[in-house]
Amino acid sequence: MPQDLLTRARPGAAAAVAALCASLVAGAPAEAAPAVEPLPTTEIAPGVFVYQAPFQLLAPGNQGAIANVGFVVGREGVAVIDTGNTPEAGARLLAAVKARTDLPVRYVVNTHMHPDHALGDSAFRATGAKFVAHAKFARALTARAQSYVDAAKRQAGDALAPTLDDIVKPDIEVADRLTLDLGGRALEFEAEPTAHTDNDLTVRDVQTDTWFLGDLLFMTHLPSVDGSFEGWVKLMARLRERKAARVVPGHGPVSAGWPAALEPQQRYFDRLRTDVEALLDKGVDLATASRTAGLSEREAWALFDEFNARNAIAVYRELEWR
Ligand SMILES: [Zn+2]
Repeated sequence: MPQDLLTRARPGAAAAVAALCASLVAGAPAEAAPAVEPLPTTEIAPGVFVYQAPFQLLAPGNQGAIANVGFVVGREGVAVIDTGNTPEAGARLLAAVKARTDLPVRYVVNTHMHPDHALGDSAFRATGAKFVAHAKFARALTARAQSYVDAAKRQAGDALAPTLDDIVKPDIEVADRLTLDLGGRALEFEAEPTAHTDNDLTVRDVQTDTWFLGDLLFMTHLPSVDGSFEGWVKLMARLRERKAARVVPGHGPVSAGWPAALEPQQRYFDRLRTDVEALLDKGVDLATASRTAGLSEREAWALFDEFNARNAIAVYRELEWR
């Protein structure tokens, strides 16, 4: 077990490890003495559990549990999908797993490198799980790690914020497609071309046809464009043609029907494109465009003011040189 997990001054994570050790020694399930409050999860399909995050930025009150995260339970092990913005959020997710099953966590999957999805990873180091991510995940996260850690300190304070030691490199990198088995239960991974980020990975639980889309799908929470607007629009057209019994958005409800779930995001992107193209035609500058493009969508989304301007800038920059 990594010493840093035991010695770091982070009561929740250390307590979770202690509880895990205690449960291993005693052979008792961790729920007998929960060290941290398990994230509340919903079983959206047999053996598929999802925590629905609030539509919030990182703050002490939410402990970093601000992205939807979940896990799939097979006959022999568990795969966790995304881990939250802090080790505390990760520890709460691990507690949620332990509350549902005694099976070991075999895999921790990151759908992309954004901090709200990946900076709870270190809470799972002691489980011995293999970390799975897109082949471009490590490079992208390394490039942003310091700024993510600094931002988390500002938003959540030193006690909750992750440190650079909490950055976990993947053991298994997916460049194209991969299937992993949880014991009679296959998970299919697909590395996507640049869209929300340059390292978006989708995960399908074959048994229940449940498709974890990460932040390729936002519902209610305004999307944020960090990879390529045009790439994302193209990918959405391709993903829309696939079938799935249900999808899990990176932000939104625990599950939704497909492809209907995509409609609000499609409408917002169409609006952004139409607005930015009209502004470019008129020769309007970037700063003005950032304040006006997409505004008619404002009432339809949570966190609109936090993300729309930078989306408008991203779209403007992509479209101005076409
Ligand atoms: Zn994201």
